[in-house]
Amino acid sequence: MTNLKNKSNQHLLDQVIGLPGPSTLIQQLPTICLECGCKDFYKQSDFRRSIGLTLVAIASVATFVLMYMGYNWFVVWSPMPLFLVFDRALYYLRPPILICYKCKHNFRGLTEKDLESIEAFDLEIHDRYEFQEELKKNNNN
Ligand SMILES: [Zn+2]
Repeated sequence: MTNLKNKSNQHLLDQVIGLPGPSTLIQQLPTICLECGCKDFYKQSDFRRSIGLTLVAIASVATFVLMYMGYNWFVVWSPMPLFLVFDRALYYLRPPILICYKCKHNFRGLTEKDLESIEAFDLEIHDRYEFQEELKKNNNN
């Protein structure tokens, strides 16, 4: 019972701070994308970049408010490193996620060990897929 509850909490967390977009829960590393058949994947932390930006924005406002209230420099500048540490901690605590280069579909449920053979994001591979898509569009026109 508690196990079920944990699972639904995890799902909610995925929706709030996880990467947006459609995702599939898998248990085994796929050889090809289950959505488009592409063979190239990359892995990254399942963490929305906008969360980090929001934290920086909050820290900036907090710094400004503390400065306005006349606190000493240590108190004034304390929100920045605190939020930075919090942001990094969240980033590293989040489970890894597998992403298809071609259709950008997210695959959740794999561990760091499952993803050992998968490389991090590679702009060159990404561009190859983007370029191919562009070519196809141009050929159709
Ligand atoms: Zn795909």
